[in-house]
Amino acid sequence: MPAARADAWRGLTADARRWAAGKADRAAVERAFADIVVLEEFHAYPGARLMATLRDRLAAGSAEGFRNLAERVSQAVVTRSYKHDEGDWDVAESAADRMPDLGLPAHGSGGQHRPFFEMLLVSPHGGTRGAQQSAELRKLRRSEDAFIYETVPVGSFEDAICAAIMNPGIAAVTIYEGFDFASHHDAPVLRSVIAARGIDAADVDEGDLALGLASELKRLRPELDIYLLSDRKVESLAGHPQAGALRRVLYSVEEMLELHLSVLEGVAERFRTPFFDNLKHYATRPISTFHALPIARGKSVFKSDWIRDMGEFYGLNIFLAESSATTGGLDSLLEPTGNIKEAQEMAARAFGADRCFFVTNGTSTSNKMVHQAVVAPGEIVILDRNCHKSHHYGMVLGGAQPLYVEAFPMTEYSMYGAVPLASIKQALLDLKAEGRLDRVRMVDLTNCTFDGHIYNTRRVMEECLAIKPDLVFLWDEAWFGFARFSPVLRPRTAMGAAAAIEAWMHDPASVAAYETQQAELGENPSRETLLATRLIPDPRQIRLRVYQTNSTHKSMSSLRQGSMILVKDVDYHTVESQFREAVFTHASTSPNQQLIASLDIARRQMELEGYGLVMNAIEISLSIRREINSHPLISKYFKVLGAEEMVPASYRQSGFSDFLTPGTTWADQIRSMNEDEFCLDPTRMTLVCGTAGFDGTEFKKLLADDYDIQLNKTSRNSVLLQSNINNTRSDIAQLLRVLLDISNAIEKRLAEGGEAGRVAFFARVKSLMEDVPDLPDFSHFHDAFRGDAGEMTVEGDMRTAFFAAYDPAACEYVPLFGEECDRRLAEGPEMVSANFVIPYPPGFPIMVPGQVITHETIDFMRKLDVKEIHGFNREKGLRLIRIEAVTAKSAR
Ligand SMILES: *Cc1c(COP(=O)(O)O)cnc(C)c1O
Repeated sequence: MPAARADAWRGLTADARRWAAGKADRAAVERAFADIVVLEEFHAYPGARLMATLRDRLAAGSAEGFRNLAERVSQAVVTRSYKHDEGDWDVAESAADRMPDLGLPAHGSGGQHRPFFEMLLVSPHGGTRGAQQSAELRKLRRSEDAFIYETVPVGSFEDAICAAIMNPGIAAVTIYEGFDFASHHDAPVLRSVIAARGIDAADVDEGDLALGLASELKRLRPELDIYLLSDRKVESLAGHPQAGALRRVLYSVEEMLELHLSVLEGVAERFRTPFFDNLKHYATRPISTFHALPIARGKSVFKSDWIRDMGEFYGLNIFLAESSATTGGLDSLLEPTGNIKEAQEMAARAFGADRCFFVTNGTSTSNKMVHQAVVAPGEIVILDRNCHKSHHYGMVLGGAQPLYVEAFPMTEYSMYGAVPLASIKQALLDLKAEGRLDRVRMVDLTNCTFDGHIYNTRRVMEECLAIKPDLVFLWDEAWFGFARFSPVLRPRTAMGAAAAIEAWMHDPASVAAYETQQAELGENPSRETLLATRLIPDPRQIRLRVYQTNSTHKSMSSLRQGSMILVKDVDYHTVESQFREAVFTHASTSPNQQLIASLDIARRQMELEGYGLVMNAIEISLSIRREINSHPLISKYFKVLGAEEMVPASYRQSGFSDFLTPGTTWADQIRSMNEDEFCLDPTRMTLVCGTAGFDGTEFKKLLADDYDIQLNKTSRNSVLLQSNINNTRSDIAQLLRVLLDISNAIEKRLAEGGEAGRVAFFARVKSLMEDVPDLPDFSHFHDAFRGDAGEMTVEGDMRTAFFAAYDPAACEYVPLFGEECDRRLAEGPEMVSANFVIPYPPGFPIMVPGQVITHETIDFMRKLDVKEIHGFNREKGLRLIRIEAVTAKSAR
């Protein structure tokens, strides 16, 4: 929406210019202005005064005056200069005309940069009363304030919600009691926002409109500080279930100063980065080091004749901030008691968890830590085979038994989707039927997947808990950490869903819902019934145990390898010591200070501007999707896949087709997010390039070599584009230019290449798009590694297989291409993989240790045209376990 706002202003100034030049009449400007008026009521800048001046000039027919001011305001809105340039707030055109004191914001006082934010002020008779209060608050500014803010006065519940949604600059909210529910605006934009949130006047308690608003705002943007100004007694609020949404209750009679100071303090609390702040302080102190870190303080670098450029490149601070000490307030990552502990607690709060652990070796390590901490050898983990390799290796190390469940295949694009809930329930019910349900410890899934499939996390957990109430969930949200800061995506994150389930457990209606369903299901419901029913767990039995890992560096401003583990586990005390051991096992004893600091900082940023940044990333991705798919030339050769192509219709129960389908509203998208089994993360864009005659790897190389555009994932006929909080609209323009360039080159080649050239091109396209290998399902573990697994389920003892291969006598190689391989497939003995084989792309293990190799796997391997296949030796062939050797050894 920030981009839409900038566009609206650009449109208005364009109209104003035409009007001033006599090329258009005033009516066009009036229409454009009317569209902007409502939107601007939700922003502090330009504010009532400038808007009134614009309106007056428009009414007076002063085309030149209107154009001048509109251009200035538009410029300030687009560049956001109003945050620091007080001139932007002035009606007068030049400094000489300005009145000495208009009570304008004293931004940038003392020449030092002070962050700017906006405070939403909800009060009766919003505009007039609000303007007064704003002016009063402005007078309270002091030069020692760490931040500057302006207020956005509104007069109703609906306006407040709209402002919080549309204006990412809002960081705090003050509510005076006595405001109305309905907005006096009837703008379509406002109606669509209110409808999309599913807010209905009938559901809001009139008597407690203020608390109702506070909790709805918290639901939208949990990071906001909310203040209530009330004449009520504190006692009447204290016990109110919604009072938790308030940061502070102030009495209306109290001085405004108290409010002003509270608002600044609230923001300061989010701004504070305990570890980073201390590290900066540490770096400025004169310290002689006698610990084993020659690089600390940089003397070995800056005094050197030979590596001085290292110092010049990185700058002095990084060396001043390096230390291996845990004294001087630096705290220990392995056993934090000071500012790391505090930074982690703040991150837990920001991300909606009970606990947070900073990890400095990437989510690869975070995942292994969770596996080791939670699962004992022999216990079963149900997981997607497409999980990142850290999960599989975690199980090799820990001795857990993987029970692989399959994601739905998207064969035409050589990629997998996500695992249907029915497959997970099926696995649980099979284990139950075989009497081994007690052995299942954890369900482990990737949310969202590399290609953007988002699970219905709440539904998955509820239905699994209905079958086994103490299951642990590990959601690998390596790419999805940012989603916490989007109200649309948040319910689909691990922590968002866990919070919803927790609230549901405490709702008395839940027990009734459970009992009603039990009665309907009867004594011994059939497997078909259980699979077809949306199962409700017993809220009295559930042990809510949810772990999330995220690569903070992949979606937020953390340095590479910065990762977090988020925990919301009611039984955490039962694994606490194991968890600590897991940290000791996997974490480096020399964690990097800069990484820890960057995790602390990433949290600060997301709490203060994450909402706007994520909104921008989503807006950019929607715009890329729209531009590519509707461009007359580019769309001939390229396409970004929409939800309807990425998610089969049977998993889109709401009937949602795609973000770009004409007529799709925000309400449709939100309903899809609430109901559908899978949704697509709009920021992950699969761009089909096979239709332009490129395979993914080729296209990636072309973009990198010729256009300096980097991307990371490819499939046979597609590449993955991602937008993130770092992208701007010029990135879109650049991408489109490049695609247009490439499309033009193809057109030229086709026009000049003659018939032969055309035939070759279309044959290549056909081969890339149609001649795609079937994706092999996981076959099964060899009997030697199936332990006591039953008939119905496929879990296995991967660790034993993995270590069996340590004995060279127990291993053999069979070339992938050749008669021997074919003969073994036809006549046996069965070929059993000795290790993981992981082709990049697609990056999932097509073989795991102990897995029986089938025709499908060999066919897929032979058709693979990728260079990088981890665990596969091209010269020697497939590395196999000689089962006779293994059984002979265990018989001895
Ligand atoms: C990247 C990734 C990981 C590993 O994270 P690192 O931070 O690179 O160690 C784990 N899981 C998934 C799904 C990933 O995409």
